[in-house]
Amino acid sequence: MDTAVVVGAGPNGLAGAVTLARAGLRVRVYERADQPGGGAATRQLTLPGFHHDVCSAVHPMAFESRFFREFGLRDRIRFVTPEVSFAQPLDGGRAGIAYRDLDRTSDELGIDGRAYERLLRPLVERASDVAGFTGSSLLRLPDSLGTPLAFGLRSLEQGTPMWNARFRGDVAPALLTGVAAHTILAQPSIAGAGAGLALTTYAHAQGWPIPVGGSQSIITALIDDLRAHGGEVILDHDVTDLADLPAATVTLLDVTPRAFLGLVGRRLPTRYRRALQRFRYGGGVAKVDFALNGPVPWRHPELARAGTVHVGGTRAEVAAAENEVNRGRLPERPYVLVSQPSTFDATRAPDGKHTLWTYTHVPARSDADRREAVIAQIERFAPGFRDTILATHSRSAVEVERHNPNYPGGDIAAGAPNLWQLFARPTFSAEPWRTPIPGVYLASASTAPGPGVTGLPGWFAARTALRREFGIAAAPDLAPH
Ligand SMILES: Cc1cc2nc3c(=O)[nH]c(=O)nc-3n(C[C@H](O)[C@H](O)[C@H](O)COP(=O)(O)OP(=O)(O)OC[C@H]3O[C@@H](n4cnc5c(N)ncnc54)[C@H](O)[C@@H]3O)c2cc1C
Repeated sequence: MDTAVVVGAGPNGLAGAVTLARAGLRVRVYERADQPGGGAATRQLTLPGFHHDVCSAVHPMAFESRFFREFGLRDRIRFVTPEVSFAQPLDGGRAGIAYRDLDRTSDELGIDGRAYERLLRPLVERASDVAGFTGSSLLRLPDSLGTPLAFGLRSLEQGTPMWNARFRGDVAPALLTGVAAHTILAQPSIAGAGAGLALTTYAHAQGWPIPVGGSQSIITALIDDLRAHGGEVILDHDVTDLADLPAATVTLLDVTPRAFLGLVGRRLPTRYRRALQRFRYGGGVAKVDFALNGPVPWRHPELARAGTVHVGGTRAEVAAAENEVNRGRLPERPYVLVSQPSTFDATRAPDGKHTLWTYTHVPARSDADRREAVIAQIERFAPGFRDTILATHSRSAVEVERHNPNYPGGDIAAGAPNLWQLFARPTFSAEPWRTPIPGVYLASASTAPGPGVTGLPGWFAARTALRREFGIAAAPDLAPH
């Protein structure tokens, strides 16, 4: 029987492992941590009974990723999809609310409602096409040009200084920048606008689901399938040299290009090695988790129903904070991503109590503890928040990397998602998962199509390996039995 080795039990390593096991290979996964999951792990970080998502918490791609659709993820675990996908509070008790329902969103946006709707409607109506062409190597020719064209023009508009041209108020622009800022890129930027528009499209299509039990449930579903097909996961095993791994026909690496260089030393051809050395990592994040004795007392009542809240104020304020980070400085009033999953999933906290997941952007390699800055920003839109806090757990960008080397300097995208690196991820190739070492493939979020819990980089890496090593062109059936 042919064998495969996978380094890293993150969502991409496991997506690759499942795909290889379904094709009949005997698969062994090595994971350095004492728990599988990488950026989709859930742990009790603060107090007993409070279950926190260590990294990812909200899953816009859970229903849109082609890998998860083929895997039948939504038939394997339970999700809750909030009616309010995301929201953004503004001073004076105002807020922008992005309902799953686009009509309701535009109705409540007032003077910019129609402009927002015209921006999004053509994309929302073709949400699976948007997911299709952004969720693969961008060097592949799309099936049709209509959606990429509509998407590209809108990204150009929202990613350049003409981004306010269609708007008259400040609520709709704030909503859009709150999503584009996920990328940690300078604002405005075309790549940031593109990522933001794709995520906003999913918010108004199938919504932004939250898994019951936390992100770890996604990992459990992947591992259950892997084991059912003869695979195994070995924990507490840090792979430091590729030569130490058992011989295998296929090796998938759920690691960054930087880590790959460390694993193989100088065994790579100079040209490829230099290309990996040129791969750029972006800004970092500092994470703060809270155990609360009640829900966040948002001044705007609709925020209590939002799966995600983008805290930071207007478009200009969020852009200023993000541009400070991109200049290597800590913003005084940072942009903060906030989710209170216990509102939708009672398993996360003891009765009447809540877990709050937050993170904020910081310069790469920052060792700043951002607990106080995060609390102050939330308190600005939810007076009394401080009094609900029972315990906190804070991680600087340096500690985020120490916890998981796939986030160099705290870069949770495992490589800046700038325009160039959307095409060259990690190298400019139609098969960016391939390496010059026979049988060895890169499978992490540093490869196309990039970050987020999608399983796509791992799935593409495994499919490329199956095609090249065994001549298997068809993707293995992944449906639940
Ligand atoms: C704070 C934070 C918030 C996020 N929020 C979201 C969100 O809400 N929604 C979303 O979709 N995405 C989010 N993300 C991004 C998402 O978590 C990642 O894009 C995704 O997990 C990438 O998957 P991966 O498998 O490529 O890497 P990872 O999930 O990082 O997994 C890599 C695994 O490989 C292991 N590993 C690395 N090197 C070795 C080695 N040498 N030997 C053995 N094991 C090794 C690591 O320990 C890890 O388990 C967030 C990330 C962070 C950090």
